[in-house]
Amino acid sequence: MSLIDIHTHQKKSSSTALCAIYSAFDTIATAGIYSVGLHPMMVQNYDAIAMESAFRAMKKDAVWAIGEVGLDKRNKEHWDLQVTLFQQQITIANMLQKPLIIHCVQAVDACLLYLQAAQVPVVFHGFRKGLPVAQKILQQGYYISFGSALLQDAALQHCFKSIPLHQVFLETDEAPIAIDTLYETAANLLQTEIENVILPIQENFKRVFKLA
Ligand SMILES: [Zn+2]
Repeated sequence: MSLIDIHTHQKKSSSTALCAIYSAFDTIATAGIYSVGLHPMMVQNYDAIAMESAFRAMKKDAVWAIGEVGLDKRNKEHWDLQVTLFQQQITIANMLQKPLIIHCVQAVDACLLYLQAAQVPVVFHGFRKGLPVAQKILQQGYYISFGSALLQDAALQHCFKSIPLHQVFLETDEAPIAIDTLYETAANLLQTEIENVILPIQENFKRVFKLA
């Protein structure tokens, strides 16, 4: 098994890099694995046709997760619509039994509140906050994914080191970096061999996606 990348926007046609789609939902290929979601920063841009095609795409076998979905305070103007679509997509995730990939910016308490309805595994992607916020998420049994910010952000590195690996993922998201770089950084931070990062994250991946 190659390195797990739980959230990327590059189509890699790989079975270990989960490619997140938030537009052009009809373009999903059969190769590769995907997450599909109505993005909280873009809720105001989706018309009925786009939503229909997103909901149709969510049912495809190549789509393993629902996301990125969630709440983003920067898009305050459309908060109510964000909440409505977030709740709706949690319901869909439950119906399809597909995990949720969460986009959460300055809205962790609200996200956790609505996620009480979730009956599937939950991954908070692109985590950049401190340990107290991380603890709130981990206490719910959810996972936290770290992206390129982990490479330089000392406070985030400290947070990463305090979190159990069995609730962690790594991701490239939009950063022009190889996922390998994140695994190497993680291993360096933990002062351990890279295998000791790779294996627990593979186990997390198998658990979240119910792989044998
Ligand atoms: Zn993303």
